[in-house]
Amino acid sequence: MNETRKKRPAGIYIHIPFCVRRCSYCDFLSTTYGEDVQEQYFRMLDRQVRLSPYKDELRIVSVFFGGGTPSLPAPSLLTGILDTVRECFDVAKDAEITAECNPGTLDAVKLRAYRDAGINRLSIGLQSADNRMLKKLGRIHSFETFEKEFDLARETGFRNISVDLMYDLPGQDRAMFRDTLEKVLALREPPQHISPYSLIIEEGTPFWEMFHEDAELKKLGDTPLFLPSEDEESGMLSDLKEILTAHGYHRYEISNWAQEGFESLHNKGYWERREYLGFGLGASGQVRDRRCKVTSDLKSYLSGDLGEKEVITLSRKDKIEETMFLGLREMKGVSREAFQKEFGVTIDSIYGDVIRNLIRLKLIKDDGDAVRLTEHGIEISNPVLSEFLLG
Ligand code: SF4
Repeated sequence: MNETRKKRPAGIYIHIPFCVRRCSYCDFLSTTYGEDVQEQYFRMLDRQVRLSPYKDELRIVSVFFGGGTPSLPAPSLLTGILDTVRECFDVAKDAEITAECNPGTLDAVKLRAYRDAGINRLSIGLQSADNRMLKKLGRIHSFETFEKEFDLARETGFRNISVDLMYDLPGQDRAMFRDTLEKVLALREPPQHISPYSLIIEEGTPFWEMFHEDAELKKLGDTPLFLPSEDEESGMLSDLKEILTAHGYHRYEISNWAQEGFESLHNKGYWERREYLGFGLGASGQVRDRRCKVTSDLKSYLSGDLGEKEVITLSRKDKIEETMFLGLREMKGVSREAFQKEFGVTIDSIYGDVIRNLIRLKLIKDDGDAVRLTEHGIEISNPVLSEFLLG
């Protein structure tokens, strides 16, 4: 057996915690520090990658630069880290290498540098095609900026592009969300992958303040604060399904749609419990049933605190639960055969009652080979998935 075959497939996540400014809904780990701190940060990232103890046992099949805004720092910083990853790890020739980008931070020089370094997938955060909404969200760009940079990415040769969209936004109605979808699909070469996700008002964000303190007295821009009703939300979801299906996308995970062959390999790795390493501020990793995090404190990270934190060893129970509630997020569901192969028992011996009950409620279906969510199960996935916690 050669060296390459002995290695286990894994992904690498690299966190880039810098943004031009904070969006009103954002609770991601990101800051607005400038070039000096960014350079210092990348020096630490470089050191962290080089110090990884897992270099000889993993074969890297995907690399994902997430943020923050990975497209904000000088492109040589990003591509330099990718060079270090390649130097230290066995990176598959056909590895999926994604950079999250925000409109307003891309230009031809950056895009060419990414392409030449082997970044082969972009994930662009558009969120909405409505300029007034983008302003309310605190985004730094307009739809036109997105359109221009998206076209530039196509011209540079990027054939695999994902776009993030948000629904359930304050003041948004069904027609506005439909309009966003239609504008994205009317691009000269529409994205291969679309991730629509609902706004969650997180504690500590400007939106939280607006919605939880004297909300009735406040306004967001010129719009009174209100969130779409449940009916409006379910209308948006039904439009989403109808429009994306009509344009040749298939839903392969609860919040992810792709044209055939463009599913995100990196994200599938999480749902299928492939091992992954996390580099950079607050990044998580999971290798050999050990899960750990990097410090979330920027000052500590910059001073060289690169060690593993919050280490937990996953028990058999943890792994069984995760197999179910991560696996069910994918439309292909959880394979009975794969489950039995990994755990030595059938799904039914552990979840027989839960599965029968959820089938009776038409929330999951079972074709004998795999257990999957039904359409209704997808709509209310959180409570359905929590049924698979073993207590
Ligand atoms: S661009 Fe993304 S990470 Fe940065 S502040 Fe906005 S939502 Fe947060």
